[in-house]
Amino acid sequence: MDLAGKKVLVVGIARSGIAAARFLASQGAMVIANDAKPESELREAAKELRELGVMLSLGGHPESLFENADLVVLSPGVPADLQALESARRAGVEIISEPELAGRFLRGRMIGVTGSNGKTTVTTLIGELMRTAGAGVIVGGNIGMPLTSLIEQSSERTWTVAELSSFQLEMIDSLRVNVVVVTNITPDHLDRHGSFENYVRAKNRIFSNQTEDDWAILNGQDQGVADMVATLGVRSRKIYFSSRGRETLSGEAADIYVEGGRIITTMMPDYHGETEAIKLDEVPLPGMHNVENVMAALAATFCAMGTGTNDLPVLVEGIRRFKGVEHRIEYVAEIDGIKFYNDSKATNVDSTVKALESFERNIIVILGGKDKGSDYSPLAPLIRGRVKQVILIGTASDKIAEQLEGAGPMTRARSMQDAVLSAMEVATAGDTVLLAPACASFDMFDNYEHRGRVFKEAVHELASRQDSGWAGRLTN
Ligand code: ADP
Repeated sequence: MDLAGKKVLVVGIARSGIAAARFLASQGAMVIANDAKPESELREAAKELRELGVMLSLGGHPESLFENADLVVLSPGVPADLQALESARRAGVEIISEPELAGRFLRGRMIGVTGSNGKTTVTTLIGELMRTAGAGVIVGGNIGMPLTSLIEQSSERTWTVAELSSFQLEMIDSLRVNVVVVTNITPDHLDRHGSFENYVRAKNRIFSNQTEDDWAILNGQDQGVADMVATLGVRSRKIYFSSRGRETLSGEAADIYVEGGRIITTMMPDYHGETEAIKLDEVPLPGMHNVENVMAALAATFCAMGTGTNDLPVLVEGIRRFKGVEHRIEYVAEIDGIKFYNDSKATNVDSTVKALESFERNIIVILGGKDKGSDYSPLAPLIRGRVKQVILIGTASDKIAEQLEGAGPMTRARSMQDAVLSAMEVATAGDTVLLAPACASFDMFDNYEHRGRVFKEAVHELASRQDSGWAGRLTN
């Protein structure tokens, strides 16, 4: 693809849009960056882009710009049904996403991780395991660095490990992903994709350019994944991981699975039997979903590197050392025997289900935020069995209270600090206080990271008050 002299419109000026514009400008393209936001909201970015020689069109999406471009590069935040995009399509203009642009220039091979939950954890772990085992890896995509900014570092020998969201996959055309990982498929982002079918269709695009030499690493216990594979007919070699023994929902035997408190694999090229990879109690992160993440990451590493039994100890050590990713059931502190965990990234119901399943009982859970059209009723049985107190925050409080009525004691809090204090009032030694909201954060916070930080600050504030011996226990 020759970009020199091409008129390229980059839509959406955030991290990946800026990275794309920078790369395009470096290739001699005539770049215009467009965003609905006015200059007053984009000051720093606008300055940076102008310095790169990029022209700006701000405060709207002028259709003539879209119709007259040679290429449109779309950022993940931009709605795919934008009117101006329709006009560009009608005018025959090619529209691609930032990973698609990157894929046309990245050298080496690619591992792409998608799914509803667990992408960041799995992508990060694959990066760490492959690095530990001596591979040249670059990690990015939806997390960390946008893929276009990694092009320069790539070589014929590198593996790019990319987290790919369904938003990014909507506009994939020729991107070839040698090892695809699908963690799970549950209804999320329905507010954007309209229906579960559209959402699954977007995810499916990750397979479209695979060949028989490539790999698909699939969750063998996930109905959404089984349905997707049945309707799609994946071309590449399928590898299943399974948290419940060797049998999978699709009827094929799993290649890496949990049995007898261990992860077992049949994937070692130098030993055609069952090999123990690691014991479950050596996995440092809580919950069976994290065991699934470990299996997915191990399988991807095996496929990419052709790992034999001799390499296993190094990988196992890599898993033991893995600290997890911030805001994903992250341990915060212990106060008077009460442990606090921050799972602010639980922005949908399924991830909250997983968080609640990770602790057996005596949980005080903070739920709520901005509703995404979710059904909260799957939380009811877990609350009944494990939760001592639900504390509701944010605009979704009424809806959650209604859907979970009778499942357990519920109270409301006005702020995160208030929620943490309420939790402390009912908790006793041995309990777990868990922020796992099942909602977006935008009603009270800038984003989920902000929400998680405010929670952690409130916990640390409480801890220092306890240390000073002033407040003592708030009750009795
Ligand atoms: P993603 O990048 O897909 O959003 P993350 O690794 O950031 O995934 O985790 C998002 C949320 O989902 C967190 O609350 C985390 O604890 C939870 N989670 C992590 N792995 C899984 C999994 N395999 N299945 C379900 N939930 C998961």
